[in-house]
Amino acid sequence: MKRCYYCKSKNLWVLVHTKLGYEQRKCKDCLRKFNERTGTPFNRIQCRTEIIFLAIYYYTHQGNSLRVVSQILLERGISVSYDDIRQWVNKFSGMLTRYLKKNPVEEIEKNMVC
Ligand SMILES: [Zn+2]
Repeated sequence: MKRCYYCKSKNLWVLVHTKLGYEQRKCKDCLRKFNERTGTPFNRIQCRTEIIFLAIYYYTHQGNSLRVVSQILLERGISVSYDDIRQWVNKFSGMLTRYLKKNPVEEIEKNMVC
């Protein structure tokens, strides 16, 4: 069961989904809102976490240039600048291996939404 990010209460409302599709919850005890990315380094990034890791994967594991990765995502309807991808690579590439063990690339590619 989900708990409040702030006070760890299990007393929650489920509100709407965020623009990126994450379920937003509100705590009935402390009245604060949060979602699964609250408190993570991805919280303010306007792209789903799996897309960030997929872009890093295309760059680091497939040897594509940043501009080519940006083009690959654009062909799938996801507009991301090569500079955003460069920043993601610098910031998150260390997390990629752990993430890909839980989320196979094929599954991410099937469900791409940004
Ligand atoms: Zn709370």
